[in-house]
Amino acid sequence: STILICAGGACLSAGEESVKSALEKEIQKYALQDVVRIVETGCMGACSLGPLMVIYPEGVFYQKLTPDAARKIVQEHILKGRIVQEYLYKLPTGEVVPQAVEKLPFFAKQVKIATRNVGYIDPTNIEEYIARDGYFALAKVLNEMTPEQVIEEIKKSGLRGRGGAGFPTGLKWELTRKAKGERKFVVCNADEGDPGAFMDRSILEGDPHTVLEAMAIAGYAIGANQGYIYVRAEYPLAIERLTIAIEQAREYGFLGDNIMGTGFNFDIELRIGAGAFVCGEETALIASIEGKRGQPRVKPPYPAQSGVWGMPTVINNVETFACVPPIIIKGADWFRSIGTEKSPGTKVFALAGKITNTGLVEVPMGITLRELLYEIGGGSSTGKKIKAVQTGGPSGGCIPSEYFDTPVDYESLQKLGAIMGSGGMIVMDEDDCMVDVAKFFLEFTVDESCGKCTPCREGTREMLRILERIVSGEGTMEDLEKLEILGNVIKDSSLCGLGQTAPNPVLSTLKYYRHEYEAHVKEKR
Ligand code: SF4
Repeated sequence: STILICAGGACLSAGEESVKSALEKEIQKYALQDVVRIVETGCMGACSLGPLMVIYPEGVFYQKLTPDAARKIVQEHILKGRIVQEYLYKLPTGEVVPQAVEKLPFFAKQVKIATRNVGYIDPTNIEEYIARDGYFALAKVLNEMTPEQVIEEIKKSGLRGRGGAGFPTGLKWELTRKAKGERKFVVCNADEGDPGAFMDRSILEGDPHTVLEAMAIAGYAIGANQGYIYVRAEYPLAIERLTIAIEQAREYGFLGDNIMGTGFNFDIELRIGAGAFVCGEETALIASIEGKRGQPRVKPPYPAQSGVWGMPTVINNVETFACVPPIIIKGADWFRSIGTEKSPGTKVFALAGKITNTGLVEVPMGITLRELLYEIGGGSSTGKKIKAVQTGGPSGGCIPSEYFDTPVDYESLQKLGAIMGSGGMIVMDEDDCMVDVAKFFLEFTVDESCGKCTPCREGTREMLRILERIVSGEGTMEDLEKLEILGNVIKDSSLCGLGQTAPNPVLSTLKYYRHEYEAHVKEKR
C-alpha cells in the first residue's frame, strides 16, 4: 500500500505530524515497513477535513484523523483490509463516500491543471514528478520546437496571467523575445500576499518542479539563461522544497549547463522577499531582486523591455507557470477546450471565511460563483445565508449573492466591480457588516502602501479616517460622497496597481450595500 498523507499548511496545523508519527510507529510495530510506503504530499485541497490521507491502491479517503485513528487504520485497513467507517467522509445526507477522491462532491467539479500533482506526489522526490510526465515538456521544446513555436503554442492556448491582471502570457513572452538586450531573464513572482490566499504556496510546496520546468521553457522561448524565483520569507516550507527541487533538477541535468545535451543553459536562483505586499507589483519586485528598496516605478518601460538589471524580463506568477508544461504536452487546443473563449483553462481559488469546505480548489473558468460556493464549497458553514463573496483580496471587490450566477472569468468579475485577482475568495454571511469588511481591507492597504505617491499614501489614509468615523457613529451622509470621490481619484491617479485597486473593497460595498453605510450614519441621529 501507499499512504498519501497531506502535509499542506492546514493539515500541519491540525496535527498531521502526530498522525504521521503514529502511523510510522504502528507500521513498524507490525513490521510492515517493506510493504507500506508513507508519502507526505502538498495540500490536497480539502483543508477543512484535515488531517487527511488517501490509501492506494484502493483510493480510500480518510479525514479528520488523530493518532488513534492512524493506529486503527493500520490495524484494520492495512492489516485486515477492512475500511474504517468512522473516518470516511460523510455527505450532508449521512451517506459515506469511501473511495476515489474524485467522487467526493468537493473534488467532483474540479479540473486540475496547475495543481495536477499537488497532493499526489512527494514534492521532495524528483522521480515522482518525472513519473507524472515531469520534464517531458522541457524535453519536447528543446528537441522538437523552435522558440517561436513555443511562443506560438502558448499564444494559441490563450493562457492569461493568473496573478490577477490576466495579461496574455504568450504575448508577454513574444514581446520579451523581440526586445533587444544583451541578456534576458525569467522571473517567477511567488510573493503571494493577499490575506487568505495560498494558491501559489500550495503549488510551490506540493509541486515545485513544475515551476522550474516552466521557467526553463520560458527561458528557451525568450532567449534567457537565468531565472529568479521571488518568494516570500513567510513561506519557509516552499523555500525548503524549492531549494531541494533546484538541487535535484541540476543533478538530473534539467537545470544548469547543456540541459539534456541540447546545448541550452538555464539556471534558477531564489530571492527571498521580506514581506512587503507591494513587492508583488512587478517593478517593485524587480527593484527588490536587484537589492534595491522594493518600490514601484512608472511604466512604461514594461519589464518586457526593461526588467531585471535593465534587461528584457518575463515575469509570470506561480500558477501561470504551472499551466505551461501541460499546454506543451497536450497542446493549445486541449487547453482551449476547457474554460471560456476569452478565459481558457482553469483557475485556482482559496476558499475561506464562512464556507463549509474551506480549502484549495481548481475549477474551469466559466463555472458560476454559485456552483463554486455551494456545490464545491458546500455552502454556508454557519447555517446563515451567504451574503457576499470578496474576490481578489484587498484589490478586489464584494460580490453580493444576487450575482452568484455570474460566470467566473476575468471580464465578468470586472464588470461587477470586483476582480479575479490571484484567487483568494472570502465568504461572508448575513452577520457580517460590509462596512467592517471594507475597513479591514483598507487597513491592510494603508499599512502596505509604500508611500511613494501621494494619492495612495494620503488618500487611502483619509478614506480610512472617514470609514472609522462612520463605524464609530460619527459619520455623515457627505462622508459617503467623499469616500466615492476620493476612491475614484485614488484609482485614477495612483502610480501602481496597489493604489489603483485599493479603493475597490470600499467602492464595491458602497455600490451594493450603501444601506449598511447609511445605517451607521443614521445611528448617530
Ligand atoms: Fe506606493 Fe501606493 Fe504609489 Fe503604489 S500606489 S507606488 S504602493 S504609494
